[in-house]
Amino acid sequence: MSVTFSALGVPENLANVLSESGIETPFPIQEATLPSTLAGGDVLGRGQTGSGKTLAFSLPLVARLAQRPQRRKARFPRALIMAPTRELATQIAKTVDPLAKATGLRTTVIYGGVAQSRQEKAMNDGVDIVIACPGRLDDLIKQKIVDLSQLEISVLDEADHMADMGFLPVVRRIMDRMPTGIQHMLFSATLDNGVDKVVKRYLSNPTIHSVDAPEAAVNTMEHHVFVVPSDDKKELIRVLAQGTARRIMFMRTKHHAKKMAVTLSKAGVPAVDLHGNLSQNARDRNLAAFASGEAKVLVATDVAARGVHVDGVELVVHIDPPAEHKAYTHRSGRTARAGSDGTVVTICTPDQQGDVVSLLKQAGLKVPFEKVSLDSPVVAKVVGEVAEHVPYVAPVQQKRNPAKKKPAGETSNARGGRGGGRNARGGKPAGEAQGRGGDRRRSDRSGASNQSERPARESRGANAERPSRGANSERPSRGANTERPSRGARGANADRPTNSSRSARSGGRNAAGAAGGRSRGPRRASSPATGGR
Ligand code: AMP
Repeated sequence: MSVTFSALGVPENLANVLSESGIETPFPIQEATLPSTLAGGDVLGRGQTGSGKTLAFSLPLVARLAQRPQRRKARFPRALIMAPTRELATQIAKTVDPLAKATGLRTTVIYGGVAQSRQEKAMNDGVDIVIACPGRLDDLIKQKIVDLSQLEISVLDEADHMADMGFLPVVRRIMDRMPTGIQHMLFSATLDNGVDKVVKRYLSNPTIHSVDAPEAAVNTMEHHVFVVPSDDKKELIRVLAQGTARRIMFMRTKHHAKKMAVTLSKAGVPAVDLHGNLSQNARDRNLAAFASGEAKVLVATDVAARGVHVDGVELVVHIDPPAEHKAYTHRSGRTARAGSDGTVVTICTPDQQGDVVSLLKQAGLKVPFEKVSLDSPVVAKVVGEVAEHVPYVAPVQQKRNPAKKKPAGETSNARGGRGGGRNARGGKPAGEAQGRGGDRRRSDRSGASNQSERPARESRGANAERPSRGANSERPSRGANTERPSRGARGANADRPTNSSRSARSGGRNAAGAAGGRSRGPRRASSPATGGR
């Protein structure tokens, strides 16, 4: 039985707000950090997109402010959340707002590029929680529109991103205006580029939600979880299917696998299916088409995939997350065979995140959740070279001798054999009828064209998608930093100039771990899934 938010100390009214948007079970980062943060402890979180970090800091922030109600004072916020971009600030506000509303707290968002007047008015009216980008906030502080001297809680989100954008000097200037001894929560994928100095300077004995580099079941595999809104899922499948190398895509049902193969073929990606409704002949033909490269994509179900031994499969896509971790291992094991490289992608709609988290936990994997859009760099990286579009050629219906029954589940001939004109490059790769003597029925084909893949369930998360941050270039964070932190020191900005031209943000999965060498003796929070405690 999973732990609940209430069991971790989240007040009932906030747990109810989460419950209303379908959030019932804490994600690992929440489970690992909430007990400490709700008690006012500092936290250093890995902060990967999709990990649930926003709630990890929003819940204690709101709960602690609500616990000690105070009269709202113009210009003096009680909590500040800093984020590098407008999009992220807006995104965070969407998470914080319902929680704040439930507790009678007022929030506002501050960022540049828009008139200052509304932000100024909000501050003059009195705001409890400010969510801000550093540049405009710094301006407003200088103009004495915002005063941080009574701040109780500070959150710095995506600190590594701030560093990349050259914001750290401003961030430090802002943080130097905060009272000492307040609660700090900092999230960062890496500690490079001056983030480590911020950590040492402002955080006190933080709980570290440390995530080490994921250990793949097969160590040559690269695992991804791509989080997409349900509406974008079909298109993401097509995009992931379109590379030149062989790829296997898994679905839960025979029916959906069959239809997906047709859908992809019609979209110009030659695909064949493999599932239990196929006759042995049909299986052999489809597998042969896949092995020869005539079909680039094999859409398979779990059971069928266990016997598949095709080398050179570079990508495995779990279109539907598998039901249990053994299936994940089996499916994923179709790639990275014989020591070659392989990539595994799990497509996950927001409402499936909880399930996928437990699945990966059980599989002993630590995989960051990446919110992606179709044009995210990480998607392009996984797709690799895009294959030529292969026009779909409608299959020629085979004239059948009703006296001679074909085995149940006979499929098309991916290589254009029997049935003349059916081929992986445009034939009807998946058009076998189900049962009843295997008659190929027209209805199958029309069904296939109507994109009948089961729509993912409604997204439960309140958050809108935000663009993913791009490909993770695995760079272990460097860490052993023996400098004494100069906590509370003001003014002198010791940051080396941040290099805003640094393009490849490290998506390091080992950010927080790097802080282990700090002299403050961090406490390590943990969860098996994320490498902590
Ligand atoms: P974040 O990493 O904060 O950007 O969160 C990623 C997504 O996960 C958001 O859509 C959240 O609404 C959702 N989320 C966060 N925590 C949970 C949870 N415990 N259960 C289900 N969804 C969650």
